[in-house]
Amino acid sequence: MVGGGVIGQVSALALARARWRVTVVDPAPGRGATAAAAGMLAPGGEAAPGEEENHRLHQAALDAWRDLVEEVAETTGEAIALHRVGTLVVGLDAGDRRLVEQYAGVARGYGVALRTLARRDEPAPFEGLSARVTQGVLAEGDAWVDPDEVMARVRAANEALGVEYRASSVRRCSRVVSRVVVEADDGSLEGDLGLVATGSTGLPTGLEAPPATSVRPVRGMTLRVVGPDRYHLPMVRAYVHGRPFYAVGRAERYNVLGASSEESPVRAVELGELQRLVRDGLEVIPELETADLLETRVGLRPASGDLRPFLADLGGGWWWSSGHYRHGVTLAPVAARRLIDAVGSA
Ligand SMILES: Cc1cc2nc3c(=O)[nH]c(=O)nc-3n(C[C@H](O)[C@H](O)[C@H](O)COP(=O)(O)OP(=O)(O)OC[C@H]3O[C@@H](n4cnc5c(N)ncnc54)[C@H](O)[C@@H]3O)c2cc1C
Repeated sequence: MVGGGVIGQVSALALARARWRVTVVDPAPGRGATAAAAGMLAPGGEAAPGEEENHRLHQAALDAWRDLVEEVAETTGEAIALHRVGTLVVGLDAGDRRLVEQYAGVARGYGVALRTLARRDEPAPFEGLSARVTQGVLAEGDAWVDPDEVMARVRAANEALGVEYRASSVRRCSRVVSRVVVEADDGSLEGDLGLVATGSTGLPTGLEAPPATSVRPVRGMTLRVVGPDRYHLPMVRAYVHGRPFYAVGRAERYNVLGASSEESPVRAVELGELQRLVRDGLEVIPELETADLLETRVGLRPASGDLRPFLADLGGGWWWSSGHYRHGVTLAPVAARRLIDAVGSA
């Protein structure tokens, strides 16, 4: 397994459960795009026009998450917490409210169960939101996980099943006779099967992408703040003068605010990008004004040409799983199943 982000490590778990002996090679497992993610598993709140197929995949992934949680708990005795709080979708100005209506039309067309809420009648889900937000739609089935917790628990399950971790960077991949070979900074390694799950980094030297298969990095940033206690509240997805914004309330007044989106491979954040996110956050949730900024996290989302995830057969025992773009945490258990369907048990 070349790359130990959420895709690589969850796939490693599926392989180990299918009796493969697995080694994950990554200099910093779980510290790529996965670390920047808010961890929203939100097929309902994120339904978008023209993306019905992706929506169905995200919905299936949410169901697959329940199995993943059970598998990890069975192996380690420690469950990953899946918080089913739903997503409240709101708009700030008249144009934004029209965007919410359009979103609701699309989501209902895909079969998402939505409840339209008036703040006057049901104030609780609107707690802390700007007074300008007087209504919203609630996608009750959506959930969130903490990607840091996911990575720690999946790694513990993997290690309990004998998966080895090598903190090393892969320089070259190849095939020698009937074996796949990995040349890493700390030496080489060979096996029967190789999976590349390097996110937006793409393929290491020695492997070639099939025609029309590619990934490009789309930078994104989330802010981590300590402030209002929003743990018991639905996730908020807001349109702010046409721009998307979201907030996820975690335990101990920890909030994740997101997310910027820039077509760029550069991990440094532009001040304007940071300013837009802070400004939109304060407009939607004014009580963030006195929150403490803990950290910014930046990640490069792996986007394919058609924005769909893929599992590509590179030949000679090599596979490439990428293109999970804005939904890799959601899609990880589906990516793992796809891999097992392709390669079977050891
Ligand atoms: C700001 C932001 C917010 C997001 N929010 C959400 C969300 O709420 N919900 C959701 O579902 N998704 C979200 N995503 C998307 C999600 O984070 C990604 O789709 C997902 O993390 C991709 O996982 P990955 O394992 O493919 O890539 P990564 O997590 O980037 O992992 C790739 C790994 O490969 C390793 N690697 C690279 N090159 C080599 C090499 N040569 N040798 C060895 N190892 C190598 C890296 O060290 C890294 O650990 C968000 C993304 C961002 C940036």
